[in-house]
Amino acid sequence: MPTLRDVATLAGVSVATVSNVVNDARRVLPATRARVEEAMAQLNYAPARGVAAVNAASLTGGEHTRPTTSSFVTGIHAESASGNIPAPPVYTVATAAEPGTPAKAARMLLRLLRAAQPISRVELARRLGVNRSTVTDIFKPLIASGLVREESGSSTERVLGRPPVALSFNADHDFFAGVNIGIRRVQVGLGTLGGEVVNEDDFDTPADPAEALALVRECITRLCAVDEGRALRVIGVSVSGMTDGGRTRIVYAPHLAWHDVAVADALRFNPLGGSAAPDEEAVPVVVENDATAAAIYEARLRLRDTDMNQMENFVLVRSGTGIGVGLVLGGEVYRGAGRGEGLAGEFGHMTIVAGGKSCVCGNRGCWEQYASASSAASLYAGDRMQTNGAARPRYVEIVARAEAGELRARRTLERVGEYLGIGIGNVIMGLGVPRVILSGRVVLGWKFIHEPLRKAVGQSMAGRAGGWSVEPGEPRGAGLGGALEVAAEGFLTSGFYV
Ligand SMILES: [Zn+2]
Repeated sequence: MPTLRDVATLAGVSVATVSNVVNDARRVLPATRARVEEAMAQLNYAPARGVAAVNAASLTGGEHTRPTTSSFVTGIHAESASGNIPAPPVYTVATAAEPGTPAKAARMLLRLLRAAQPISRVELARRLGVNRSTVTDIFKPLIASGLVREESGSSTERVLGRPPVALSFNADHDFFAGVNIGIRRVQVGLGTLGGEVVNEDDFDTPADPAEALALVRECITRLCAVDEGRALRVIGVSVSGMTDGGRTRIVYAPHLAWHDVAVADALRFNPLGGSAAPDEEAVPVVVENDATAAAIYEARLRLRDTDMNQMENFVLVRSGTGIGVGLVLGGEVYRGAGRGEGLAGEFGHMTIVAGGKSCVCGNRGCWEQYASASSAASLYAGDRMQTNGAARPRYVEIVARAEAGELRARRTLERVGEYLGIGIGNVIMGLGVPRVILSGRVVLGWKFIHEPLRKAVGQSMAGRAGGWSVEPGEPRGAGLGGALEVAAEGFLTSGFYV
């Protein structure tokens, strides 16, 4: 049976573009639509509407030719949909979804290059356990298209004979927008494939989602105006809540009380950073749960010096205002399946105390009421109301008091650690994934939480079995960093079903 990808290959467009046609999105040029429809007719392809909803993580916007190489990674110039876009070519990295395929190797190589650049082909091949010729085949078209560049002698590796040639991404042409919608602040930044954040700004999160997205729009426009040499390729949005399967909408963000927010529709940009015309295909927007975004971010930070197989399976627990869990299984992010896509990892709302404290989600005794950084304030205050009228201390303040030797603050953090450990033990047992990275504000108190945390995990059945680990990640950088990583990942794995 022909697949969406077969149609895309025959029509010479991205999978996302085919999806837009199938789902009757209006952002496709009539000529492109006609070509896709012709390809569908020739293949006798029957689209399953909705099922094929693919987020437009495609990289259209330049000139377009059909892929011509036999390699599964093709650098292509795409069809101009938006007029006077700057010269840089548009690249498509066509990948298939099945693990264990050459396409997976390509994705892993691109991720490894991004994490460890500059890095030689020899080193890439060694670290991924593939032939050097595989590396050469994958990067050849990307070097030809200008996405990846070679530099002599910049690597520190010792090789006999000629100096090794190191590969790195060319950061001159493209950039990505990251939008971290926090509960208190929104951060917006522009980053490059080189990993550099070129420009950023932030503002208080408005209660109204439409107002928040209008401010995000203004912010992206302003930031893009500063750097005219590069083209905007993908916008990554990180939010603490559930997203839809296509990753274009926020389904529910409990702490913001936002329901069903069409983020991608509100952020329609052209590659120059201006508004996309109604009939124009906009820069793709990828909306991701913040814990998943943080997992992608931590994976990149660690890939620089960790073996690939170490990062194949891990759980990221993000504890700040609430608790979110990001899952990486078999080297790929896991978001749930079928109608549950986008829902995986909502462990913050698993009941940990029967009849316990009431939660924003409507349940009682949720994990995040006891083990989030915010919950520390009420643990600190105890069950009694504070009578002196003073505001409850923020988490950072509790950590500072603990550092200063205040026993009540230390005891609070130890309890947070214990509750974290109880939940993490459950997560490890439920998923059978023993590597855990702790991220978010709660990490600021790692010194005080890690022992009770480990003790609590050790008391669970999974803990007794051994072989597990819990390590601290970034307390703060994974917000905007995660959003930028979502955008870069969307760019590098274009054609990737999301
Ligand atoms: Zn809850």
